Amino acid sequence: MKNTNVLISGASIGGPALAYWLDRYGFDVTVVEKAPAPRPGGQAVDFKGAIHRTVLERMGILGEVLRLQTGGTDQEIVGADGRRLAVLPGEFTGGEIEITRGDLARLLYEKTAAAGCRYVFGDSITSLTQTASGVHVTFERGAPRTFDLVVGADGIHSNVRRLAFGPESDYVRFLGHYYALVDVPEIAGSVPSMYNEPGRMVAAGGPKAAAFFTFASPELDYDRYDTEGMKKILIEAYAGMGWRTPAILSEVRRADDVYLDSISQVRIDRYAEGRVALLGDAAYGNTLGGFGTGLALVGAYVLAGELALAGGDHQVAFKRYEEGFRGYAKIAKNGNAGPFLAPGTPGRIRMRNWMFKNRLLLKLMLKMTDMFATNIDLKDYPSLTGR
Ligand SMILES: Cc1cc2nc3c(=O)[nH]c(=O)nc-3n(C[C@H](O)[C@H](O)[C@H](O)COP(=O)(O)OP(=O)(O)OC[C@H]3O[C@@H](n4cnc5c(N)ncnc54)[C@H](O)[C@@H]3O)c2cc1C
Repeated sequence: MKNTNVLISGASIGGPALAYWLDRYGFDVTVVEKAPAPRPGGQAVDFKGAIHRTVLERMGILGEVLRLQTGGTDQEIVGADGRRLAVLPGEFTGGEIEITRGDLARLLYEKTAAAGCRYVFGDSITSLTQTASGVHVTFERGAPRTFDLVVGADGIHSNVRRLAFGPESDYVRFLGHYYALVDVPEIAGSVPSMYNEPGRMVAAGGPKAAAFFTFASPELDYDRYDTEGMKKILIEAYAGMGWRTPAILSEVRRADDVYLDSISQVRIDRYAEGRVALLGDAAYGNTLGGFGTGLALVGAYVLAGELALAGGDHQVAFKRYEEGFRGYAKIAKNGNAGPFLAPGTPGRIRMRNWMFKNRLLLKLMLKMTDMFATNIDLKDYPSLTGR
């Protein structure tokens, strides 16, 4: 096996999932993560259909994921007076297996760290220089090192993509909305509810206890690591909104952490540039599209499997990864959750709510998502290890 010394940027879902498989195939894995520790938080993410289930099973984590699952909960769509207008069924919002992103990331991190993968938290790559035999990497904090291969699993705003492929503006399309997540205390006895005014949506209540916002906006210039700045944007965007919004905004003012990001889509014509490859949202992200976590998980399985199958030959493996995966990742090209979650006019809000009353239409939509989530022939790479 050649090229065994691999650096992965990003320790959320794609990064640790890739680390798991590479370690199993005998690679020596280092993961660098910008955050100071595994990042908690995030909404529930979900898995759909037989392919996701198979990969979780082959990783030996299906049982643990099922144990941690939150269970899809029905969500009420309410009017300003709290009256129920429609119900978003749990199976629609939560897929087949729903788990919080933070729990899943922690599970993957603990499993791979225990297996011997090295994690470096609180650091980030500052430059990548490719040579014929490796990639010379410099870091914000750590000493420079040379790796055989580098994989960017560092999300939709990927640092590795910027350094190896070019500026974010060449590859990421802003789709006209932002979303935010803020942990708020549980509202006793409440059910998950969602309220809309044209171009704005706020959801809160129920056991998951994270307020969720989606709003239409021109592209904003802000620092994604400045909590106070993001709070200000959110509070201004929701000024004057009815229902329980003023009370929810009071909690936002008190919150320690805010996650605010654009709804955007990655469009890139290649997943690899020499010895550097992209995985997960960095390569095929579509915010809130509902497929990001499954794509990152299956993408990690395919990328690691192809590297092992090719004896570490990155040129062969990266080509096969792209050929085998681009069709499956096509789902991320479709759709924009923004106008669906926060329709722009009262008429469009009524139309969206009507859709959720139509059982037949819902069934059809669920069938279609299941079809997309299973649209890949998985090779049996684990057999390479003889286990
Ligand atoms: C805190 C958080 C909350 C999220 N919440 C939701 C949600 O509620 N709903 C939803 O659908 N999706 C959410 N996502 C996105 C979702 O996790 C992904 O769509 C999906 O799981 C694909 O995962 P990924 O590993 O490719 O990318 P991501 O999950 O985006 O992870 C990227 C990782 O790379 C790290 N990183 C970023 N820049 C650098 C850098 N310069 N150097 C090193 N590491 C870096 C990030 O800190 C993060 O840990 C969230 C992501 C994060 C990080």
